[in-house]
Amino acid sequence: ARSDLAASLRSLDGASYGRYKSLSGSWTVSGVALEVLRVQADPFAPPSRVRLTVSDAGLPADLYGTADRRRALAGFLLRELRRALRGTPVQVDAGGPEVLERRAGTVDADGVVVVEVGVPFPGPKRRVLGREAATLLAETLPSAAREAICSADPDAARTFVETVEDAVALRSALAGRGLVGFVADGAVLPRRSGVDDRPLAGATPFGGPESLQVTLEAPNAGPVRGMGVPDGVTLIVGGGYHGKSTLLRALEDGVYDHVPGDGREQVVTRLDAVKLRAEDGRAVIRDDVSAFVAHLPSGEPTDDFSTTNASGSTSQAASTVEAVEAGADVLLIDEDTSATNMMIRDARMQQLIATEPLVPFVERVRPLHAEHGVSTVLVMGGSGDYLGVADTVIMMDAYRASDVTARAHEIAAAGPSRTVEHSGFPSVAPRVVDPASLDPTARGKRRVTARGRDTLTFGEDDIDLSAVEQIADRSQVAGIGRALALLGDHVLDGTITLAEGLDLLDAELDRRGVAALLDGRSEDLARPRRHEVAAALNRLRSLRLTT
Ligand code: ADP
Ligand code: MG
Repeated sequence: ARSDLAASLRSLDGASYGRYKSLSGSWTVSGVALEVLRVQADPFAPPSRVRLTVSDAGLPADLYGTADRRRALAGFLLRELRRALRGTPVQVDAGGPEVLERRAGTVDADGVVVVEVGVPFPGPKRRVLGREAATLLAETLPSAAREAICSADPDAARTFVETVEDAVALRSALAGRGLVGFVADGAVLPRRSGVDDRPLAGATPFGGPESLQVTLEAPNAGPVRGMGVPDGVTLIVGGGYHGKSTLLRALEDGVYDHVPGDGREQVVTRLDAVKLRAEDGRAVIRDDVSAFVAHLPSGEPTDDFSTTNASGSTSQAASTVEAVEAGADVLLIDEDTSATNMMIRDARMQQLIATEPLVPFVERVRPLHAEHGVSTVLVMGGSGDYLGVADTVIMMDAYRASDVTARAHEIAAAGPSRTVEHSGFPSVAPRVVDPASLDPTARGKRRVTARGRDTLTFGEDDIDLSAVEQIADRSQVAGIGRALALLGDHVLDGTITLAEGLDLLDAELDRRGVAALLDGRSEDLARPRRHEVAAALNRLRSLRLTT
C-alpha cells in the first residue's frame, strides 16, 4: 500500500480529470487502510468508490459475537460515520430506520470494520482539484472514520446491538406462540409524514386490550408486554382517522429491525408477512388466478392468466397467489389500497349480478388459513362482510386498540349478510421460470440499476416497484436487481420451481451475506427479502416460464 496519498493528489493538481484514475489501489492514511475501488470517469458521473478498513477499532468483542450482532454493529458504525461526515460531499449508505445487512458496512468475526463510501472527486472545468481532494481523502475521510469507528461510544453501540438482537428474538418467538405479530405497549407507531420516517412527536403510545396481552422474552430487555396478533384471520376496524392503517403499516415494517429511538423497536412481524394491494396497470405473467377469477369475459383461461395491463382486482388477485407461491404465511391488506370488488360483495349486489366472475377474498380468507396455513391481517372499516369470518377483531379508537371480537360475532350472527360459501382454496400450481428470461443484458451490456426506491432497471426493462410497499430503500432495490441476476445466472435451471429457487437464494445469502450479490460493479446495496425479489420478478415484463 502506498502512503503518500495527499502528496500524490497535490501533484496532480490542475491535471486533466482522467488522471484521478492513477489513484486506484491501496493506500495507508493516518493508520487507516484506504482503497480506491473505482474512480468516476468525469465529475458528473456517480461518485468514486472508496473502501476503508479499520482492524483496530477496539470495540468490545461480545458486540460482534453473532451474525445479528455484527449486522447491528455495522449499522451503528455506518450511522456514526454518516454523522461524522455530515456537511461533506461524502456519501454513506447508512440507511433509514430499518437495520439491514448492507454492502456499505460490515464487521467480521474478528471485529474488522470495512466501510465503503461514495466520494465525488472534485473537478471544476474537468481538472483535478488537488489540494481540495487531498484534504477530503487524506484528512477528512480517515479522521471521520477514526472518530466514528475507533472512538465510537461503546454504550451507544451496545444499546443499538441489543435493541436489534431483542427484535430478532421477539420475532422468532412469534410462531411458537401462535402469533403473526407483536406490538409492545408504549410503542410509537405513527411517522412524522409520508416522506419523513422519524417518529411522530407527541404521538399516543400504543396500548392494547387485556385479552390480547402477551409477554415475550427478550434476551436483553427481559420480559416485554404487548399486544399479540394471533394467527388466523384478524380484522382491524374503527372509525376513519383512528389509526388503523398506522397499525398495519407498523406490522408491515415489523419484518425489519429498527434503530433505537424509532418507536417500533419492539414491533415485530413474522419474516414471511407480505403486504398486498391493488396495482392496476401491472403486468401479470402466467399466474393461476382461478381461486379469485372464475372466468373472464374474453374467455381467457384464469389458471394461466397473463396481461400487460391488469385491472385493480386482477392485479390484487395475482399478487395474492404470487405471495403464497413465494412462501408468505401472513398477508397484510388495507382497504385504503385494495380493490373493493376483490375484497367484498354485499347481498344486494349478489342479487343483482348473477354472473360475477370474481370470487371475493372474504370467501377465500378462511380456507387460505385452514388449508394453507396463511394468516391474514386486514384493515376494513367500511364493510361488515368480514365480521363473521374473522377470528379476532381489533378496534382502533383514538389510536388505542381494543378487542371487539365477541360483539362482532354477535352482529354477524344476527345478519343480514351475504352468502359466504367458504369453498376452499385451490392449490396453485408452482411455476418454473425460464432462467434465460432473467437476462439483464441491454445493448450488449449488463444493466442492473436501482433508479431510486421505486424503479429497477433490469436489462431492457424498467420494473415498477412503487406498489411493493415493504421495500425499505433504494439500496434494497439494487440488492433485488442483483438477486434477480443471480437467480437467472446460477440458481434457476429451468426445472426447479420459483419457490425452490427462492429457498436456494436465501440459503446463499445466509451463507455469504451481501457478498453473494456483488458482481464487479460498485454500488451500494442491501439484502432484500425473498418476497421483494419475487415481487420484482413477477413484474418483469419479459419474464417467461419454461412450459
Ligand atoms: P385510519 O386508517 O384509521 O383512517 P390512520 O392510521 O391513517 O387512520 O391515522 C390517521 C392519522 O392519525 C394519521 O395522520 C396518523 O399519523 C395519526 N396517528 C396514527 N396513530 C397515532 C398515534 N398513536 N398518535 C397520534 N397520531 C396518530
Ligand atoms: Mg386507513
